[in-house]
Amino acid sequence: MVRSPHEHITIRDIWEARNRIKPFVRKTPLIPATGLKEQTSSQIHLKLENLQKTHTFKIRGAANKILSLSEKQKELGVTTFSTGNHGLAVAFVAKVLGIRAVICVSRRVPTAKIESIRKLGAEILFCGNSQDDAESMCYHLQDEKGMTVVKPFDDPFVIAGQGTIGLEIMEQLPRVDTVMIPLSGGGLLSGVALALKTNDPNIRVIGVSMETSPVMYKSLKAGKPVVLEEQETLADSLLGGIGQNNRYTFQMVQKYADDVILIPEKDIAHGIAYMLREHRFIVEGAAATSIGALLDYRFNHEFQEAVALITGSNVDLDVILDIAHSHL
Ligand SMILES: *Cc1c(COP(=O)(O)O)cnc(C)c1O
Repeated sequence: MVRSPHEHITIRDIWEARNRIKPFVRKTPLIPATGLKEQTSSQIHLKLENLQKTHTFKIRGAANKILSLSEKQKELGVTTFSTGNHGLAVAFVAKVLGIRAVICVSRRVPTAKIESIRKLGAEILFCGNSQDDAESMCYHLQDEKGMTVVKPFDDPFVIAGQGTIGLEIMEQLPRVDTVMIPLSGGGLLSGVALALKTNDPNIRVIGVSMETSPVMYKSLKAGKPVVLEEQETLADSLLGGIGQNNRYTFQMVQKYADDVILIPEKDIAHGIAYMLREHRFIVEGAAATSIGALLDYRFNHEFQEAVALITGSNVDLDVILDIAHSHL
């Protein structure tokens, strides 16, 4: 039997995750940012999870969850309702391990996304017209077929898996004092902040979200999970609710985020343009929020060694070409 982390996820769970997922993930580079905030003696670094397998960090959490299932559970397979980076990560890990994966999608999901999931060998199950319908189908598969639902963020194994990024940052930059973390459901921020602050509670963790539909930000203000209508944004991977029955990440973000700042669309676009121009990297809008935060005149925290988490690069080329035309 694999011990499961219970109510309190600790640094031990993150070390365990690190050992468990090692063969499946890359240790991604941390590089100095060029041309950003040319303050004397302050240095900004970029943690490049855009170079992770499947082009996002999501494989860390998905791998940690799926690898910790019992043989019986693995035989019955896994399911999820995310069609974004998490869905891709689940499909990828399931394929590598030879496990059945069913991704439940609503009829509104664009064909391009469905194709990329299908290419990874996952089964697609169409159900209803909304994300909620897809989610209900997952729980139906759990009850009827014994499949395991791999949640995108509110799961201790997923949180611990994402937290392995925090261990890598500590190794790569022991003097880190500030980390900017793109924030949606909060699995990433919860895990990374736990790893960093266990090493030194003074390390500052800043969540960054887009100005349009920042569900975690509004929930923190309200003191409970809120529901917002989704709006168009360049940071599409940050869309989605945090769940009315959120068990872990809301409390952890409440506890660990020193601040959450909201980035306007124009600064997200600037962040994408900056990565193209200075580093020759394509990144997605969600990842560019942490650069946007540093470009923002309102961000005036003092720091010596800051890290911006570059979380992924799954973006349509049309979007990149538009931004290149208008910004470069
Ligand atoms: C999922 C995701 C995030 C946010 O992670 P949460 O755990 O939901 O807060 C940030 N960036 C990218 C690219 C993502 O796919």
